[in-house]
Amino acid sequence: MSAALSIDSVKSQAKGLNFRNRAFIAGSYTDAANGRTFECISPIDGRVLTEIARCDVEDVNRAVAAARAAFEDGRWRDLAPVQRKRTLQKFADLIESHTTELALLETLDMGKPIGDSTRIDVPATVNCIRWYGEAIDKIYDEVAPTAGNVIAMLRREPMGVIAAIVPWNFPMIMAAWKIGPALATGNSLILKPAEQSSLTAIRLAELAAEAGIPESVFQVVPGLGQEAGQALARHMDVDGIAFTGSGEVGKLLLKYSGESNMKRVALECGGKTPHIVMADAADLDAAANAAAWGIFFNQGEVCNAGSRLLVEESIKDEFLEKVKAVAQSMRFGNPLDPATQVGAIVDEDQFQKVLSYIGLGAQEGAELILGGQQAMTESGGFYIEPTIFDRVNNRMRIAQEEIFGPVLATLTFKDGEEAVKIGNDTIYGLAAAVWTNDINRAHKMAKGLRAGSVWVNCFDGGDITTPFGGYKQSGFGRDKSLHAFDKYTELKTIWIELH
Ligand code: NAD
Repeated sequence: MSAALSIDSVKSQAKGLNFRNRAFIAGSYTDAANGRTFECISPIDGRVLTEIARCDVEDVNRAVAAARAAFEDGRWRDLAPVQRKRTLQKFADLIESHTTELALLETLDMGKPIGDSTRIDVPATVNCIRWYGEAIDKIYDEVAPTAGNVIAMLRREPMGVIAAIVPWNFPMIMAAWKIGPALATGNSLILKPAEQSSLTAIRLAELAAEAGIPESVFQVVPGLGQEAGQALARHMDVDGIAFTGSGEVGKLLLKYSGESNMKRVALECGGKTPHIVMADAADLDAAANAAAWGIFFNQGEVCNAGSRLLVEESIKDEFLEKVKAVAQSMRFGNPLDPATQVGAIVDEDQFQKVLSYIGLGAQEGAELILGGQQAMTESGGFYIEPTIFDRVNNRMRIAQEEIFGPVLATLTFKDGEEAVKIGNDTIYGLAAAVWTNDINRAHKMAKGLRAGSVWVNCFDGGDITTPFGGYKQSGFGRDKSLHAFDKYTELKTIWIELH
């Protein structure tokens, strides 16, 4: 999507879209067995885009039976890895050639700027699937260093039927982080998109079939978490759940697993990332730019958003002025406008939740220094201005709880040790960042921060080659990189004695 395009031309492209709105089970689109649907509402203007199949236990049972049959007959897992690789690469190519359509669907459905959907979400999805396809025919199993009369082979085998349950903030990317490694390793995968953002997932199923992924190896069951999601997580014949979403639902999945078949559960949950700026940082302008984008990118609906800005006391006022200036320069507006950088909040529930946290921050005694208001009310959509609080202390709820919106809480500290202590003082441990020009301090703080990713003199660095996931209640298991294969495979020892 070129920034030179006008909003009117993007809107007219959007008018031509055909919304796939049904489940994709056993090779074809199908209504939910109970005939029910739910509304797919665009947060851009509150308009109903389409009605989506509301799958429940019966549909999940059908999808799981089909996925199991596909796994058992080996139509996918028994292919040579190089063949799975070729198919996944074709799938990635097809996604890439549908960039405009998929980006529009993502933006209409969840309100992120069309420039981001086009330049970040679709390319990252393509890259992820291509990378796992590319990796799978280059990985070897192991032979253990046993005594000479034994050959002990350690083999990675696909787990079987995997359910991927994903959130709405990066619908395609979060799905791709599961689809890539799960399919590359030969599993059958059932994707349950978030009810707020089902459109791209449903379309991907068709592209996967077109790419040659065999019937029932990749299926999509849209529906509500309590219904389709719970049915998958309690199913006796699902072998693993790969989840991204809230800690609250993550804990339910552990319970469902324990109450059913002890299926493997991997959880990528929330965060409250401390973004730490030391007074000796070499480039405070760069740090301020990163601090502002670290919270306002994707409307703050990012699991690793730098939602707690920890600034060394001596530079706080100067630094916060810089962050505020960056936030004020962001182009906030209609997500279909190619010039927009900050768009709409995903739905009315999330919008109300964010507004209530803004009210709470003021009640708790924090000082609102930017934003805090609903915006663009005439649109019928859900917009909240980039919001900054100063004078937050770490005991306040706005410092402890994940808001998942464009709200930054600013705290101060006296030295690196105190910064690490405050940084670690939440239930989460997804990510952290430190800006400093002192290499010893950088290493010490990176070591002290209990988080799955620590960025030094940057924010949100990483690519498909680096693992991503959390410590503490941010979850366990890792997406991305070769380490993600652990979530989709069992490790078998074959011990052979030579006589
Ligand atoms: P959510 O937990 O409400 O929903 C996530 C998914 O779980 C959805 O598909 C939903 O339908 C399903 N679900 C809900 N209830 C269920 C149930 N009882 N049984 C089975 N499935 C159920 O999360 P959300 O609001 O969609 O997403 C926001 C959350 O996701 C935030 O906490 C955010 O931090 C987290 N997130 C984490 C990462 C990460 O990589 N760590 C990435 C993105 C988002």
